[in-house]
Amino acid sequence: MIDLYRFKRELEDLEKKRGRGTELISVYIPPGRPISEVMSHMRQEQSSASNIKSKSTRKNVISALEVIMQRLKLIRKVPENGLVIFAGVVPKNGGGEKMETHLIVPPEPINLYLYHCDSKFYLEPLKEMLKEKEVYGIILLDRREATIALLKGKRFEVLKRLTSGVPGKIKAGGQSSRRFQRLIEQAAYEFLVRIGEHSSRIFMEIPEIKGIIIGGPGPTKEKFFEGDFLHHELKKKVVAVVDTGYTGEDGIRELIDRATGKLQELSIVKQRKLFQRFLKEVVKGTGLATYGVREVMDALEKGLVDTLLISEGLEIKFIRGKCDSCNEKIEGIFMESPKCKCGGNLNIEEERDLVEEMIEKAEATGAEIEVLPEDTEEGAQLKNFGGVAAILRFAG
Ligand SMILES: [Zn+2]
Repeated sequence: MIDLYRFKRELEDLEKKRGRGTELISVYIPPGRPISEVMSHMRQEQSSASNIKSKSTRKNVISALEVIMQRLKLIRKVPENGLVIFAGVVPKNGGGEKMETHLIVPPEPINLYLYHCDSKFYLEPLKEMLKEKEVYGIILLDRREATIALLKGKRFEVLKRLTSGVPGKIKAGGQSSRRFQRLIEQAAYEFLVRIGEHSSRIFMEIPEIKGIIIGGPGPTKEKFFEGDFLHHELKKKVVAVVDTGYTGEDGIRELIDRATGKLQELSIVKQRKLFQRFLKEVVKGTGLATYGVREVMDALEKGLVDTLLISEGLEIKFIRGKCDSCNEKIEGIFMESPKCKCGGNLNIEEERDLVEEMIEKAEATGAEIEVLPEDTEEGAQLKNFGGVAAILRFAG
């Protein structure tokens, strides 16, 4: 989750960059692609770039390709998830231009090879990965079969299929059929035990699972949920029990459709509760809540933070520099690039991303991190507190 947040910020940063002409290059390399092939493709692109009409665009495209090839020379093998390279000349903070290269190993495998040259970087396939950050366990069952699967965003992966061999109910009456019925019930019970054992073993090994969804046609799923079939740690993680018309993969699709709304609600509810708790502590003056960059940073440094609340898309930087026309010193915490009073540009001597630093400190001290979307009420309220707040373990 946290790595994804960092990845997201990197993408947001890249998204803002613009070239003067069609000269920003994006290269997507899937795993398994030989570097030599990519190299020869880049050489080809470089030679066709000599036909570009605009002199500055031509020069910039050729040198961006040069930089890409230099980077490729240092790589022996494409990483397991593939590699994405962005290169090009972009305007520099405070005037001028500079060549930038960014190498990104995506959080999930990419399956496309793509060369793209435009006035901006091509980020869509990477942005798509951000939508898939939450992992849920799925147990879909009826009397006859069960599917254990993992839901990652919108994609699911079947981990195990089980069948019971339990026949349907017998209609005919009589002694022997009652006895037979008992055997069937016994077999059905044993099947639930087996499903419980398999799902417990599988899901206990995936601690990042945020929740478990149980589904299926008929009453078997409730029986499974209510009984003691699932490991008690996992039972606590069950977030929804939903009705589906099918088992198997069609059933999983149905289950996902029905559970999605529920899951979003849950995440919003959780954030709402956290934010309400934060507000309560602030109002009561217990010392168990704090807000604002300096205060939160201070609490993080002391290891006091239990939960860090951050507005989505928040940017806070420490910047130190000098005005390039009047030489005035400028130093402080800013939410956007500062300018000098005289209107001059800033020559930046030091720049630190404070959001990044807060996240690192939170990670290092075991604090939970919640990113509040702007379009929720709590997200909007958090902005009034400077976009960053914390619930503390102890009063500082
Ligand atoms: Zn100035």
